[in-house]
Amino acid sequence: MKVTLWGTRGSLASPGPETARYGGNTSCVEVRGDDGTVLVLDAGTGIRRLGLSLPRSLRRVNILLTHLHMDHIQGLGFFGILRNPQAEVHIWGPASTTLDLRSRLTRYLSPPLFPVHLRDLPSALFFHEVPRGEFDVGEFHITNALVCHPDPTVGYRIEAPDATITYLPDHEPALGAQKFPLSGDWTSGYKLAVESDLLIHDAQFTDDEYKTRVGWGHSSLAHAFEFAALAGVKSFVPFHHDPAHTDDVLDSLIKDSIDLAQPRFAVMPGMEGAVFEPG
Ligand SMILES: [Zn+2]
Ligand SMILES: [Zn+2]
Repeated sequence: MKVTLWGTRGSLASPGPETARYGGNTSCVEVRGDDGTVLVLDAGTGIRRLGLSLPRSLRRVNILLTHLHMDHIQGLGFFGILRNPQAEVHIWGPASTTLDLRSRLTRYLSPPLFPVHLRDLPSALFFHEVPRGEFDVGEFHITNALVCHPDPTVGYRIEAPDATITYLPDHEPALGAQKFPLSGDWTSGYKLAVESDLLIHDAQFTDDEYKTRVGWGHSSLAHAFEFAALAGVKSFVPFHHDPAHTDDVLDSLIKDSIDLAQPRFAVMPGMEGAVFEPG
């Protein structure tokens, strides 16, 4: 499989000269199978450029939404394949206790917040609610579960014949733990991430920032490194960078975290445009 980062920023798109290397677009990751299956993890603003890169002949795309916070759906209406009448777009994402997935998305993708109704888009749209048991899309076997982040939020474990990756862009596994990490059994997201070849994980805050933001649903870099170590992953991508963290800040935060944690896994900074072939 091939993994491409199209948007790595958390919370709010943050373009500008000081964020040009890590990128300003919000969460969007493409996972391309050797059989040609295309998975899109979240529909942040990065999805617009991903859409431009897809061949016009592609007939099916699968979007896996972790949750419906704006930074994960804001690009959806700008995903070009939705305007292709010959394309099928399958969207997985969580319902709430009172609204189904389509209704929740329609709250944003309708006037006055967006000029077009979902139902008026020419492509064929299919909605699938998560969490649900495991399911297969092309060569991928996908496991999903609720994780510690509000409104509700799922994480995805994606297994292909050549590699396994886990996507946990918004995740606060340290919430409620007196001392983090606890054992795997008591840690949110552990079962999804365990022994993955590649873990893409929330690394939004510094230690100091986290102290005043407990319960906001995100991890400090230190927590993210500890979670990756607990799960025994082969490689780790710090992701969902805080809008206030410039390229220079991120360079030093990640370097300091590596120096402190001395990880046994590889660390690949989550930079927009990065391509990985795990396994
Ligand atoms: Zn987010
Ligand atoms: Zn969120």
